[in-house]
Amino acid sequence: MRLGFHLSIAGSLRRAVDQAQVLGCEALQIFVQNPRGWKWRPVAPAAVRDFCRARGLAGLGPLVVHLGYLPNLATADPALYALSTERLSRELELARALQADYLVVHPGHGPLGEASFAQVARALALAVSQVPPPPLVLLENTAGQGQELGWRITHLERIITLSRVPLGLCLDTAHAHGAGYDLSCPPGIARLLADLARGPGLDAVKIVHLNDSRVNCNSRRDRHWHLGQGAIGLPGLRHLFSHPWFKPEAAIMETPKPHQAYEWYNLLVARSLVPGTVLLAAGETK
Ligand SMILES: [Zn+2]
Ligand SMILES: [Zn+2]
Repeated sequence: MRLGFHLSIAGSLRRAVDQAQVLGCEALQIFVQNPRGWKWRPVAPAAVRDFCRARGLAGLGPLVVHLGYLPNLATADPALYALSTERLSRELELARALQADYLVVHPGHGPLGEASFAQVARALALAVSQVPPPPLVLLENTAGQGQELGWRITHLERIITLSRVPLGLCLDTAHAHGAGYDLSCPPGIARLLADLARGPGLDAVKIVHLNDSRVNCNSRRDRHWHLGQGAIGLPGLRHLFSHPWFKPEAAIMETPKPHQAYEWYNLLVARSLVPGTVLLAAGETK
């Protein structure tokens, strides 16, 4: 399994690739716009070319783009829905130009039920049918804060089924724990994997967001924390990663970054979770 971080593109897109190389990542996740703003900042063709060239040389893959925080595909407000679907299409298009493999999307905030799932499915189907693949759109499970949808695997399964387009899944470990799947112990992990197997299928899980949780199981809150230091803990993460059913292509960490030392720490812990990983000494090559 390939490992990477969500890294900042502040300054330039290229900066995320450089940073990934410094850290020794194999995979990378980025935002392609300011995630907390609606204003669209055009990306110059030269910046796209520079990013793609640097990423190729660095051998980084998969490249995951995460949709910004503002679009809400489950909203009851028609104006916000229109803005959200347009933004989804534009970010998907830009992700494609950047040769991204995946675009990660949250289902959104809205009343829990079939009508909301159908609305999210329609938005995704429209965006996917407008932009030729790749990237593959991955729906992410959530902690279920407030009216957030997607905290049960069955929600994601309904959206995928109703969309009638190819969609995959991004599994966030901190979100799953917050949503009530107790990942600190084997029975909770078994329940999550069984829900996936019964529903969208384990093959649908392309990416895992590898985060420990600062809040307890079933808190319905989303607080990412350093690996092994939170409510999931190392035994739980180790059990999940060594489970024969669990084979995502890459694990992306979205752990807090008070200092770069924490990134080194989290990457080392993540390496220790991947079965068969051999830590190389400086100067050795793979
Ligand atoms: Zn996310
Ligand atoms: Zn989160």
